[in-house]
Amino acid sequence: MSKSIGIDLGTTNSVAAIKKTHIEVLKNAEGELITPSCVTMKKKKLPFSKPAFVVGKHALEWMKQDPENIIVAIKRLMGRSYQNKHVQQIIANHELHYRISRHSKGTEKSLAVILNGKEYTPEEISSKILEKIRIDAEKSQGDKVDYAVITVPAYFNDKQKHATRTAAALAGLKVRRLLPEPTAAAISFGVDNVKGDDAKTVLVFDFGGGTFDLSVLTISGGQFIEQGKGGDMWLGGEDIDRFISDYVLAETGKENQIDDMKKFVKNQDEKQKNLFLGELKTKVEKAKIRLSDEDEAYIEILGILKDSDGDSIDVDVELTREQFNKIITPVVDTTIRLTRKILEDINFTPDLIDNVLLVGGSSRIPKVVEAMKQEFGDEKVLVHERPMLAIAEGAAILSHRLADTYECPKCGQTVSQSDKICKNCKFDLEKYIVEQGVVDIVHSAAHDYYIYLENNEKHLFIEKNTPLPFEKTEVFKLVHPEQKLVHMKFVNIVNEADEPIGDLWVGIDTDEKKDEKKKKDALHIKITLKIDENNLVEVEAALKEYPDIQLSKTLSRGKSDEKLFLSLEKMINEANLKGYTEYTMIDVLHRSLSIIKNINTVINTKTGEVNEPIYKFSAMKIEKAARMAAEGHAGKTSIYYAESALHSFGQAIPAKNQADIRKRMKHLEEVDEHGTYDENIRALKDFKQSIDNLGGVNALMQIQKAGHICMDTQPSKAHKFYKCIKDIMEEFQNGNDEKASELLTAIMPEVYAVTNKFDSKTGVIHKDITK
Ligand code: ADP
Ligand code: MG
Repeated sequence: MSKSIGIDLGTTNSVAAIKKTHIEVLKNAEGELITPSCVTMKKKKLPFSKPAFVVGKHALEWMKQDPENIIVAIKRLMGRSYQNKHVQQIIANHELHYRISRHSKGTEKSLAVILNGKEYTPEEISSKILEKIRIDAEKSQGDKVDYAVITVPAYFNDKQKHATRTAAALAGLKVRRLLPEPTAAAISFGVDNVKGDDAKTVLVFDFGGGTFDLSVLTISGGQFIEQGKGGDMWLGGEDIDRFISDYVLAETGKENQIDDMKKFVKNQDEKQKNLFLGELKTKVEKAKIRLSDEDEAYIEILGILKDSDGDSIDVDVELTREQFNKIITPVVDTTIRLTRKILEDINFTPDLIDNVLLVGGSSRIPKVVEAMKQEFGDEKVLVHERPMLAIAEGAAILSHRLADTYECPKCGQTVSQSDKICKNCKFDLEKYIVEQGVVDIVHSAAHDYYIYLENNEKHLFIEKNTPLPFEKTEVFKLVHPEQKLVHMKFVNIVNEADEPIGDLWVGIDTDEKKDEKKKKDALHIKITLKIDENNLVEVEAALKEYPDIQLSKTLSRGKSDEKLFLSLEKMINEANLKGYTEYTMIDVLHRSLSIIKNINTVINTKTGEVNEPIYKFSAMKIEKAARMAAEGHAGKTSIYYAESALHSFGQAIPAKNQADIRKRMKHLEEVDEHGTYDENIRALKDFKQSIDNLGGVNALMQIQKAGHICMDTQPSKAHKFYKCIKDIMEEFQNGNDEKASELLTAIMPEVYAVTNKFDSKTGVIHKDITK
């Protein structure tokens, strides 16, 4: 029977656990419970041998020798954009020693890390950690491990969760649930501490290396209800380390009469500088951890920094608990402020909290514990008994609970989740599950969800802390009756800034004739936003008036599809600005609709892989559309023209010409869709030639067009044009070519007056929605 495990995929360390009759934290291949979240690559023996990844302790051991090729803390980069302020800060401060760059295949925003000169996405690196965990777990269990509950920070946004899911898929794991870390901690706490009909409300305070997560949960009768979430995705022990480093540098500067110590370090020889910064980080963290138990610590770095005379500038700083507390006051104050805020957000007061559960390495700091005791009272604040393992244990409990089948705790036979008693030994499984303490978990939305409307107005779609799963449908209006394109942008707002969730581009592919009433009104679009238990977002859109028309529901999420959508958006915006004619814009619109279809298939939704040929093809089509529009070539409108000529004046066109037009039309349609710029231009030229051969029919087409244009505003003039067409056709059929030609010459100036005015009108592509 394939096994289902729980994984705490941490920034610094990862842990796996399994629940059978009891919970067991799994030993990795090195025989240890904790696996450093660290990835590197074995040096290739031969130029063509396959690269082999090394994960965990053995990877970390290379840190001193080759820091540039040791990937640590990849979780901080998961689902992040290159331009993100914090990512830029990490790069500027050399906080991570490996290279972080723009991904060559993604957008401006996409990010890659460089390992032995090759680009990897954070998902790919993360998948190596998960893969090791899976393989080690399979070895220890002597069985396949296909399923996992993986924990993520409560504050992870949709993109970060998607990235985690992709990493799991790449590692060959099926995700049963992405479980918020604080909820996992609460499960492991609740199972031991909340029995039977007890009800307790717990504030989980998870203060780790890179994130600060808060969550309020009510535990009752095996139900875990998430009441609310808060925290700060970018606050953790590493910030504390940075503050201490600043202090240590300032003290060293004072000692040695160096005004700007940071600049002094920056101007050191590159190799020495990196060595020094690495040492400083390690020693500062050690001192910090020591100060959780002792009253003072020393930071000493000798013989690395050199002044201009080549003399050593040594670091030798004493850090007292008192000084340390002063340094971390801003951080502690932030945790208090955010703790008060989460209670405020969900209308709770501190007395409604029964326990405050402290987990995560940074919550071992005495000042942090003290601060929480001051807020909630001494007796309520608990430090978890197994702070490093609690989250994996909670995940294992849920993973067992969510497995389709499990082993009967009495006889070991496989039973299914829906069985109330064991078919084999009659053991009361239902009672057992209730006693085990986890029956169900009610998740809640981690953020506010907004959609962008016309004029950059934001519309609140789903509110933070709404119980999940949840779905909501709202109707929006398109901004123009003829609109064929809709661009919807979804964002979370985190720390008062937009966090993009993804974009949805929809082409309304309808040639249906709208009835006259509908034609005057803009269509309505029904947008459904679904958030599942994992806080993962799915979007669906349908036209209210035409519910049967399938609209795409693929959200672009900052991958190469987003890069393509951004260039499509740019191309359309530019065309709108340049004042091209309506004909040209119709062509741009049709090209855009077909490009959207292509882009929506670029990314494999399961693995996140990029389909290279489709990527290149879509990029080519965007470029082609821009160039053809700038040069005024319009394939689609020429086709329309020919189609309506054949339809209206077929009897005046010799059969041979008709066949010729149809043949060239087919070819043009084909290259409009698939061909290169050159092929497209050639086909269009050929096609136009066959239209030019129509002679008099082209004149009739002009008259008909003038009639259409006048129809709404000057119906009598329109009728005059239509009547003239009829007369000309009659004369022509009766063989009076000369008379027909006379009539034509007489009407044409009036026709051109109408059509020229119309032809000079500029077109616009609308793509917004409004409420
Ligand atoms: P994550 O979940 O982000 O991987 P952890 O919960 O494992 O993080 O905590 C790691 C952080 O906790 C690091 O910044 C580390 O320096 C800090 N830390 C670990 N032990 C202690 C301690 N005893 N006192 C203070 N900080 C600690
Ligand atoms: Mg953690």
